[in-house]
Amino acid sequence: MPAIAGRLNHFTESVIREMTRVANQHRAINLSQGFPDFDPPAELVAAAQRALEGQYHQYAITWGAPRFRQALARKQTYWMGLDLDPDAHLVVTCGSTEAMMVAMMTVCNSGDRVIVFSPFYENYGADTILSGAEPIYVPLHPPTFEFDPDQLRRAFEQGVKALVLCNPSNPTGKVFTLGELQYIAALAKEFDTFVITDEVYEHIVYAPHRHTYMASLPGMFERTLSCSSLSKTYSITGWRLGYVIAAAEVIAGARKVHDFLTVGAAAPLQEAAVTALNFPLSYYEQIQAEYTQRRDVFLSYLDKARLRYTPPQGAYYVLVDISDFDTEDDTAFCMWLAKEIGLVAVPGSSFFAEPIRHLIRFHFAKCQETLVAAGELLLKIKAQA
Ligand code: GLN
Repeated sequence: MPAIAGRLNHFTESVIREMTRVANQHRAINLSQGFPDFDPPAELVAAAQRALEGQYHQYAITWGAPRFRQALARKQTYWMGLDLDPDAHLVVTCGSTEAMMVAMMTVCNSGDRVIVFSPFYENYGADTILSGAEPIYVPLHPPTFEFDPDQLRRAFEQGVKALVLCNPSNPTGKVFTLGELQYIAALAKEFDTFVITDEVYEHIVYAPHRHTYMASLPGMFERTLSCSSLSKTYSITGWRLGYVIAAAEVIAGARKVHDFLTVGAAAPLQEAAVTALNFPLSYYEQIQAEYTQRRDVFLSYLDKARLRYTPPQGAYYVLVDISDFDTEDDTAFCMWLAKEIGLVAVPGSSFFAEPIRHLIRFHFAKCQETLVAAGELLLKIKAQA
């Protein structure tokens, strides 16, 4: 039998998604793969039902249905403070997962170097390898997850094509400060580098922290590919609607990659999602308030259980320190947690390039009932370990 491609030896299947299978196997509460267990807004589901009755069964325009692009450009013009042209500055993709891959393949030649902060959402490692690039990891140091400015400069000095920025960050919950973003932007300009952002948690930020779009900083629009999706903002991770926003010249390239990768995102769902993109500003205030409450419930249980963690500033993940437990191995700890306690987390090592084994990731995009049930299980951990 002939051998399959060698590049596939350089990464594994997703550990996050594997932990969902572990949760199903043990009928445990799944706080690993980040997706909600509550419904999306009812108006959005009704819009999807209407769309299926309409004439949306064939391919939409490959880079996005016009009504969806117009609504998205209007919404993001407001939030990003940029004057976005729906016909020039965006391409609609199958989730941010495709958006990131498209972005990487649009800017990278084979052998190019790409800076990735570590810990990082596991897709970025695979994205760089599949696009023929080579990742250079720059640590975000726990527990505050700040980067060392000199270390970042030294990474740029190695000659890089792009930097990947997940902000608000999965898995750390870090929201990069304006000062940090300005420092990264200055290096990107000095070394003539692209920035590829993953901003899927743009609307999940806890006061007093604020999200700043990299593309909104002076001189950064022309070198930033802003990737995001509707998955987290509207609780529709299964709809697979994402996008890349960038300068017209970059989007011209991104459209080609996207066209040959997937042709397009689901036409009826693009039509339905126009309803979500037109929600009033109060919708975004409401989800901030709801996520703040979910975070507070979950963190209060971590406090009660006397578990140490870095309080998330944004997104819906928390990294919990397990060094008080008698374990050298976060994966073994997570398997024990699933089997003996009935709770599933992701081993932190799957996010770090460095050999860090003392952290595990929980997510809290769950309804009150699930969070309380999970919290009660957390209270048992120290006694049973
Ligand atoms: N972004 C989510 C997480 O980090 C979901 C990952 C996935 O399976 N696409 O858990």
